[in-house]
Amino acid sequence: MTSYDVQLDGITKRFDDVVAVDDVSLDIEEGKFLTLLGPSGCGKTTLLRCIDGFETPTEGEVYIDGERVTDVPPFERDTSMVFQSYALFPHMTVGENVAFGLQMKGLPDERADGGSSGGGLKSLAKRTGSEEIDARVAEILELVELPDYQDREIDELSGGQQQRVALARALVTQPTVLLLDEPLGALDLKLRKNMQVELKNLQEELGTTFVYVTHDQEEALTMSDEIAVMNDGHLEQLGTATEIYEQPETEFVADFIGETNLVRGAYAETQEGPVVESDGLSFRVPREPAADGEVSFAVRPEKIRLGSEAQGLDNAFEAEVVDEIYKGNLGKFVVELENGKTLTVDMQITDRGEYLSTGRTVTV
Ligand code: ATP
Repeated sequence: MTSYDVQLDGITKRFDDVVAVDDVSLDIEEGKFLTLLGPSGCGKTTLLRCIDGFETPTEGEVYIDGERVTDVPPFERDTSMVFQSYALFPHMTVGENVAFGLQMKGLPDERADGGSSGGGLKSLAKRTGSEEIDARVAEILELVELPDYQDREIDELSGGQQQRVALARALVTQPTVLLLDEPLGALDLKLRKNMQVELKNLQEELGTTFVYVTHDQEEALTMSDEIAVMNDGHLEQLGTATEIYEQPETEFVADFIGETNLVRGAYAETQEGPVVESDGLSFRVPREPAADGEVSFAVRPEKIRLGSEAQGLDNAFEAEVVDEIYKGNLGKFVVELENGKTLTVDMQITDRGEYLSTGRTVTV
């Protein structure tokens, strides 16, 4: 039977007149890497905070590992959060920062103020004492590839190292669910790309459920088992990276993820099969639309062929090359169809002479 670490049932969160999250239901399987993806202000962080307990939903229920936790405070939930800002204590060492993760979840730490012994996680209940804490801190720092960094000051570390400390602090309690709010947002592009791969590997190694917030679609496609695309508070589509990219269910998803050509028109059944009539051109489409009337379909630039490669294919039209951007052996072209609409085409160039010059007429 499928086991879910997070279940969101009809979550709505209002702040006065603002509906930040609008009736979102979502089940996240144990051990999965799920990304909440969407533009700024679409409600990703608010939804994440409802899972962690920093926000209480206006309507709906939150379940962690099968238990209803809708109004349980954050420190009593089996979750941990990593922030973009790291939220580390600059006056404490790396080791103290990570140990603080344990204290927050209720494991006594004799080196500090004795800590609190209430709450806490089942897995930690039997394991107490400062030696144990030291061992756990060392273990987790090893895991995030910062061995022997316990005694370093936070402000002696690079941004990437600080983010690893924040990650270690969140993971040291072995949460069922790790929540990450744009954790790589403050890093430069190269480090960000490296950390994406490292985070994904770490998640697979630990088998912990990750819920990851980003507005960066490339990051989401690279890392996620599943992507929940959000728009204006609601869930647009839930699916694997391939499903979201290859079979977007809405115009919003098609447009937000990757580059795409959107063609709008009227759907019709013909002897040749289903078509969309758009400004005098008739495009064969693979299936009936979900609704009648005006429809739109999306074609990725890399799925379009030009020149001899296009001849004999479905939907072959004459077009004029109106722009081309040189990218080594990958060509990016803008072509104008007879009806004046333009399409963007990406393709590997095997014979540059065939298409290149602007103004040429080609089959598309
Ligand atoms: P970003 O990517 O910019 O962080 P987001 O998708 O995480 O955006 P949220 O931060 O969840 O979006 O915000 C969703 C909406 O709720 C926004 O319109 C925001 O202004 C509003 N909002 C969030 N928190 C509060 C609050 N505490 N009080 C009032 N409005 C809020």
